[in-house]
This record gives sequence, structure tokens and C-alpha cells, in this order.
Amino acid sequence: MYALDGKRVWVAGHRGMVGSAVVRRLQSEGCEVLTASRSQVDLKRQSEVEEYLADTRPDAIVMAAAKVGGIQANASYPADFLYNNLMIEANIVEAAHRNDVERMLFLGSSCIYPKLAPQPIPEDALLTGPLEPTNEWYAIAKIAGIKLAQAYRTQHNRDYISAMPTNLYGPGDNFDLSSSHVLPALIRKAHEAKLAGARSMTVWGTGTPRREFLHADDCADALVFLLKSYSDYEHVNVGSGEDVSILELTRMVCGVVGFEGELQHDLSKPDGTPRKLMQSDKLRGMGWKPRIDLEQGIASTYAWFLENYGAAQ
Ligand code: GDP
Repeated sequence: MYALDGKRVWVAGHRGMVGSAVVRRLQSEGCEVLTASRSQVDLKRQSEVEEYLADTRPDAIVMAAAKVGGIQANASYPADFLYNNLMIEANIVEAAHRNDVERMLFLGSSCIYPKLAPQPIPEDALLTGPLEPTNEWYAIAKIAGIKLAQAYRTQHNRDYISAMPTNLYGPGDNFDLSSSHVLPALIRKAHEAKLAGARSMTVWGTGTPRREFLHADDCADALVFLLKSYSDYEHVNVGSGEDVSILELTRMVCGVVGFEGELQHDLSKPDGTPRKLMQSDKLRGMGWKPRIDLEQGIASTYAWFLENYGAAQ
């Protein structure tokens, strides 16, 4: 058990959806939370990261900093997704080791698994088959991050661990239609269609792919739980344990938002991987479970959207 009480914890990526949820969750742990703005430290520059860690000397790091995006952004900016993520994680892990940081939690993603992995996907499906091409750049970078944590554990005896969250959503999500993930995109589309009195809204692809969703606050709770209690080589899946089809999700979002029109499918957009449900038995077996159900989470995320984007509509 790693007690966070009195420790200094750097949350890298504290402005993102997961990072900000982790910062909120850490408030009740009695630790000092460190954050660095983008203008203060460019995480893509090794010397800046090293200098920051040498100055601030955290005891633990949560690596929630990453270049993230939905299916279209991944396909359009492969170099950004691969380069930025590789640099951020390599710089932080090496600097953490040099500065004797005791604990580090690296955050990956469910897209590290092969496109046709068995469902639900167990941790040991990693590197057993070809990746989904629409997000292979991001996936390769995230696989390298897991391997970095493992390599520094093996070679330098560092207590660095990795968690693989499923598709996340919640307050602070990206609602930009060209780069967002499906859930915030659907919230925005349903909301705008309702306001415009439109007869229909567009859903990308066939609507048959299945995805698992976890609220960012549940994810943050799981990450803090792992930071305190997990210390091993293998990464840990962090999921809700349930998946829905994109069509079911769309109907749920429309119900919450109050849009009653028709759904039209844009088949020029990719479906991506057919199903992505992670097996989270390992985490569940350690005694952790999620608290926020999907419909309730969509409702509170829609409320956040209205508060933060409402004025712009
Ligand atoms: P993925 O989980 O990496 O495939 O990323 P996304 O969350 O972007 O997409 C998940 C699924 O939702 C894919 O099958 C998309 O085609 C589908 N989808 C339906 N409508 C939308 C939309 O408006 N935006 C996005 N990003 N995906 C959508």
C-alpha cells in the first residue's frame, strides 16, 4: 500500500478531462498536488521536463498528458499522435527515474489492443495481433509507454505502473465535431438539432460498432486506487464492464437531450473497430468498481456542456 498522505503528486496533463478529474479526486487524499502549465513546461522537450522535476521533486506522478482525439483526428494527424505521445512519455519516465520519483502511473487506452482481440479484452491480449488502422499511431505510442514503465521496472527497479482506461467521457470533454470522440459529438449534435428544430441528425458509420464507456470521475477514482494499491509489471484495464452499440448510445443521448427526430447514417465515415469491451476483472478483483451509470453520466455531462458551451449556441 502506497500512502499518498503528505506526498507530492505531479499530475501531468491537469487541464485535460482525465487529469482534471484526477486533480479533483486527489483533493481528499491529503497530498500536495503539483501542476505545470503548458507555457511553464513543454512536455515534448526533455530538458524542460528534467528541469521541472529537479525543481519540484514530486514523490509520485500521474501521467495524464497526451495528444488525444477521436477516429477522424487520429486518421488525419498520424505524425502528431505518434510523435507527441512518444516524446511526452519518454521524457517523463526518464526524468522521473533520474529524479528518483518513487511512483509513476502511466495512462494508456483500450486502443492498444489488436483490432480482433477476444471480447471482453483481457490484459494479455496486448501485442497478439494487428492494430485497428484508424488509431494505430496513437496505439503504438501508448504501447511504448507501457513498455517504458516495464523497462524501467526491470532495469532500474522502478515502481512504475500502467492503467488502460476504456473510452472515457465527462466534464471537460472535447465537443469539437471534427476531433472529438463519439459521446461528446452525439451530445452536441443532438443538442444543436433540437435547437434548430431539425428533422434528423447524423450518426457516423453504421451504428453497429460496440463501445464501452466510463465516466472520467470513475476513471480518476480507479487511478488513485491503483496508485495506492497496485505495484506490478502488467498494466491494468480500467472499464465499466458494459458496452453498448453506437445506435443504442445515440438513442440514449437523444433521450437525455430531448431530441426526437430521425437518425441518418453517414456511411462515408469509418466504423473503426467492431467492438471494444475490456475485461476489467483484475481491477474488480482488487475491490474497485465504478459508481456512475451511463445514462446518469450522460445527463451530468450534458449539464456541463450546457453550462460551458450554452452561451455560444
Ligand atoms: P474509436 O472508439 O476510437 O473508434 O473513436 P470514436 O469515439 O471517435 O468513434 C466510435 C464510433 O462512433 C465509430 O464507429 C464512429 O464512426 C461512431 N460515431 C458515430 N457518430 C460519430 C460522431 O459524430 N463522431 C465520432 N467521433 N464518432 C462517431
